[in-house]
Amino acid sequence: MERSQEESTQAAQAPVRPRRHSRQVTLRYAVDGEPRELKIGGGAPITVQSMTTGKTHDVENCLAEIKELADAGADVVRVAVPRPEDAEALKDIVHGATVPIVADIHFNHKYALKALEAGVAKVRINPGNIGKPEWEREVLLAAKERGTPIRIGVNGGSLEKDILDKYGYPRPEALFESAMRHVEACTRVGFEDIVISVKHSDVYFMIQSYRLLAEATDYPLHLGVTESGSLKTGPIKSSIGIGSLLADGIGDTIRVSLAADSVNEVRVGHQILKSLRLGRPGVNVIACPTCGRLAGDLFSVVDEVEEAVAARGFDKDLSVALMGCAVNGPGEAAGADLGVSLGRGRAHIFKRGETVGTVDQHEIADAVIQMIENWDEAAEGNSPGQ
Ligand code: SF4
Repeated sequence: MERSQEESTQAAQAPVRPRRHSRQVTLRYAVDGEPRELKIGGGAPITVQSMTTGKTHDVENCLAEIKELADAGADVVRVAVPRPEDAEALKDIVHGATVPIVADIHFNHKYALKALEAGVAKVRINPGNIGKPEWEREVLLAAKERGTPIRIGVNGGSLEKDILDKYGYPRPEALFESAMRHVEACTRVGFEDIVISVKHSDVYFMIQSYRLLAEATDYPLHLGVTESGSLKTGPIKSSIGIGSLLADGIGDTIRVSLAADSVNEVRVGHQILKSLRLGRPGVNVIACPTCGRLAGDLFSVVDEVEEAVAARGFDKDLSVALMGCAVNGPGEAAGADLGVSLGRGRAHIFKRGETVGTVDQHEIADAVIQMIENWDEAAEGNSPGQ
């Protein structure tokens, strides 16, 4: 756990995170009649998406779910369109939402046409089941006419039969081939407002599939591990899959799929971005794992501070370290902007490795929040590692 002077210096001098060059697409939507845009790719901030789980045609509940996701920080919300009544409801959903709405279409290209008419910000089609090439072409031409982006959402579980027969298993090459087949269908009609995803439930295959795409194209990529599981396992799989790619600069928008309340998808998505110091500015809470030197109840302090930081939604870009002892804490967290380390009954407060005061242990969370509130980004300069 000890951090050498050299490591601390390296952290402070770390370069800006490089990102793969990608084209940019624009999602157009309106809030209370006022037009807005959200960019994906081309250096735009990486966005976090989620999906509603209720029936889309139950407009009131669907809009309530969209609001809950937007309040949790979802930049884009996708809704499933499996029935005609869902397609019919899209107009009202688009009208009532405050974030860009993406229509998720499988099997029936007519619903995609309907979604475009309803003014959705983007349509996701699953090329493995959208049907005949002429139907896909019809959708692409309609999207082109409206300037609405399309996501080519390839999924390891629903590849076209001929591709599956060729590879025998949804290997990365198979997902890549499926995606490129539909990229070509887009380029044939001169439509390039596309985002691509090649999701797989096997994290390793998912990573390889996206790497193939990232090398071969410059279209923006929507990252996700499909069917990643419950709140216990899903965040781990998603963090490995999405995080590995983002760490290599690959990915423009992300969705964490969880078999749990979708609000958790948004929280985990932002946490993945925050862990890599990508995405929106925000407070990154770091905590030591504790060891035999622990001098108090650090876990409660971490819970309290994380909850308070989440509740306040600070947009200051700084890291806060919570350390279990005063012996090694400040040194180990020298790369953090602010921190506290537990000591005998008291907690030491430090700023970029230097102790600047002490508080009683029961006052730690309040003291940390106060320090964040008082943090003056302009005066303090960039965080270490920025
Ligand atoms: S208790 Fe102290 S030495 Fe142990 S892990 Fe935490 S900061 Fe490091």
